[in-house]
Amino acid sequence: MTTTTITTHGLYINGQTVETKETMAVTNKYTQEAAYHVAVAEQAHVKEAVQVAKNSLKEDFTPYQRYQVLLKAAQLLVAKKEEFAKVLATEVGKPIRESRGEVERAAQTLEISAEEAKRIHGEGVPVEAAPGSENRMAFTLKVPVGVIAAITPFNVPLNLVCHKIGPALAAGNSVVLKPAEVTPVCAYMLAEVLTEAGLPKGRLHVVTGDGPSIGDWLLENGDVNMFTFTGSPRVGELIRQKAGLRKVALELGNNSATVVHSDADLELASSMVAQKSFNNAGQVCISVQRVYVQEDVYETFVQKLKEKTEKFVVGNPLEETTDIGPMIRLSEAERVEAWVNEAVEQGATVVTGAKRDGAFYYPTILTDVHDDMKVCRQELFGPVVSVAPYTEKEEVIAKVNDSDYGLQAGLFTKDLGFAMKAAKEIEVGGLIVNDASAYRVDSMPYGGVKRSGTGKEGPRYAIEEMTEERIVVFNL
Ligand code: NAD
Repeated sequence: MTTTTITTHGLYINGQTVETKETMAVTNKYTQEAAYHVAVAEQAHVKEAVQVAKNSLKEDFTPYQRYQVLLKAAQLLVAKKEEFAKVLATEVGKPIRESRGEVERAAQTLEISAEEAKRIHGEGVPVEAAPGSENRMAFTLKVPVGVIAAITPFNVPLNLVCHKIGPALAAGNSVVLKPAEVTPVCAYMLAEVLTEAGLPKGRLHVVTGDGPSIGDWLLENGDVNMFTFTGSPRVGELIRQKAGLRKVALELGNNSATVVHSDADLELASSMVAQKSFNNAGQVCISVQRVYVQEDVYETFVQKLKEKTEKFVVGNPLEETTDIGPMIRLSEAERVEAWVNEAVEQGATVVTGAKRDGAFYYPTILTDVHDDMKVCRQELFGPVVSVAPYTEKEEVIAKVNDSDYGLQAGLFTKDLGFAMKAAKEIEVGGLIVNDASAYRVDSMPYGGVKRSGTGKEGPRYAIEEMTEERIVVFNL
């Protein structure tokens, strides 16, 4: 008989592992069995983490040191790619090839943050141009905001953590991180990597446990200067209300649209839409959820999308051939199933999929949908895409904009005029032309409008959020 040893991760406070009275299981999302245990923090732990984070700001950590640490951490991450990828495949249920991609991107995010650490600067301000100020001179400094609380979601638990920690440390802040309770293991591993890379202890702390309790303890703590949150609009709004006058950056949900105009390359469009609707079982904030196809190419597009979708292999995330793994929880797969069933009752047609097997939901294409069905109107966050026809450019722009959200949208067309019109009129943080909505490289500005949030990520842009601009005026 073989016995599996389950690793227990203590909290990570002040460069040390801290054991707690209570622990909680993190499951393997394929087998649904406990794969790891992590500590459950009490309020005193969170208080201590914030206090040490605050004190650490008094210690020197120069821009060049920050650059060295973040660059070294990026290199270590690349060296440990397989180890991290296996944990991601296990705790998220993300297919192993996609998990390796996440580790590579996380390393990129740290590397870009390292580079940005050397470029943070203020600017000269011509106060002498104001009448009566002729003998004055001024410039601005970009100073760290201080202690940043970072709260992150389950679906991209390594790279999205790097998008918080990388820029925050690059800008000279300290961080208390609360990763998602269902996928916290790679965050602890990342903390160890940063320590190995030479991060001064005190600059980063990781606390796990009950989301709302830890969230409240951080929000009640006046020594936290800023909240950077990625997750659902519901929790984002709660944080915004409780944070008071402190800085808040929110990366929230979306029901992303992609438009396929009749002049588009339909092979390209159908491949990209297939891939980007179902990656990570559709649990991606810019996953394609609504596709609008111009009517004369509508039937051909749906046929091509169906053929490509039916080739995906659904199965064990640790197998090389798997394209789509389980959803994060059985209850999430059941929710998606209920939404699809409701759409079908309201008149939608299932082109393929609409089948659930435990926490697996098979990639699903719906047609005959209308914009007020839940599968179109709300954030679905699962492997389901709805396709509808349109006639006019104006009409489709209005359809894309008829949403509470505005993170990213995609548009396939060869018509430059239409692409420029869409760029001006579609209300999103990013428009991706000749690709689907789910395109992101880690250097670009990323963030939404409306209920998709406020503030931008991408290290250079996150550093803007994570620094204060201080003016210094000299009376000469
Ligand atoms: P979630 O909002 O349920 O949880 C996110 C984090 O908030 C977790 O760490 C959770 O423990 C914590 N949390 C829960 N209740 C809290 C409270 N009361 N106070 C403080 N923290 C609390 O989101 P999720 O299910 O993990 O992730 C899915 C959501 O994240 C989707 O809406 C998706 O669109 C969004 N998302 C957005 C982006 C983006 O960049 N815009 C990226 C990935 C995911």
